[in-house]
Amino acid sequence: MKIIKTPAAFARWRQKIPAKTSVGFVPTMGALHEGHLSLIEKSNRENRLTVVSIFVNPTQFGPREDFNRYPRPWVEDIRKLKKKNVAALFYPAPESMYPKDFSTEVFVSGLSKTLCGSIHSRGPGHFKGVATVVTKLMNIVRPTRTYFGLKDFQQVRVIEQLNEDLNLGFKIIRCPTVREPDGLAMSSRNAYLTSAERRYAPQLYQTLLYGRKLLTSHPSKSPDQVQKILKNRLSSIPDVKIDYVELVHPRSLQKVEKNRRPILIAAAVKFKSARLIDNILVK
Ligand code: AMP
Repeated sequence: MKIIKTPAAFARWRQKIPAKTSVGFVPTMGALHEGHLSLIEKSNRENRLTVVSIFVNPTQFGPREDFNRYPRPWVEDIRKLKKKNVAALFYPAPESMYPKDFSTEVFVSGLSKTLCGSIHSRGPGHFKGVATVVTKLMNIVRPTRTYFGLKDFQQVRVIEQLNEDLNLGFKIIRCPTVREPDGLAMSSRNAYLTSAERRYAPQLYQTLLYGRKLLTSHPSKSPDQVQKILKNRLSSIPDVKIDYVELVHPRSLQKVEKNRRPILIAAAVKFKSARLIDNILVK
């Protein structure tokens, strides 16, 4: 596996790959788990070569967020990538991604301001950071296909929208959420959970499943009523603060008024040292 640390060095490596060779791309922040590996496996199945990036992007973290303590288990990550036959790892230093005079930002308005982007949650700056870095990464890697996990449903929508709006022409592939046997969505941040919190954490997904059941078996229940029930249920999890639980349209991510599918139920909760998100698409 080639390890490449600057955009210029990546461009030199990329140039040598014949135009007809398909290249799949999986952008990550590292601390790789089975969720990331499922994206890599899908890319391996659908492309001749797979490129992975590990970049803990400073611009998508708020000042009070976990940028400094975000896990960076370099040796284990490399071992996992080599096992999956990844052709190249792009591992840039922040200075090579954001030189001193860097001044362009990509902002997908609307989609960046709801759910995790609302001011009560991480704020719209989070998705500005995501949209800008993903645009850069895709332009550097020039992939045939790029793979994103639906655990971060809003992130996928933001990237799909910028790809459409700016006519970038990248192929964005949605990948299903990989879960622990008890239903908890895999996440690098699960490592922050205490053992007691880890026991309660699956209740997030159980609440989403309950929301789906309410919508499908009680068509007379409005999204507002379902939201109230789910809020109540989440607030009964010990040591948890609800960031949000919302029923939205899966394209606009705007609140739905009527119980008419498709509806995305998305939620974020905060334990003492870990913020967890999850969602379920009710078709
Ligand atoms: P991250 O390293 O958290 O930025 O995630 C990198 C990519 O892996 C993103 O496209 C995520 O949506 C995806 N991902 C993270 N967790 C999971 C999961 N449990 N299942 C599927 N994809 C995931």
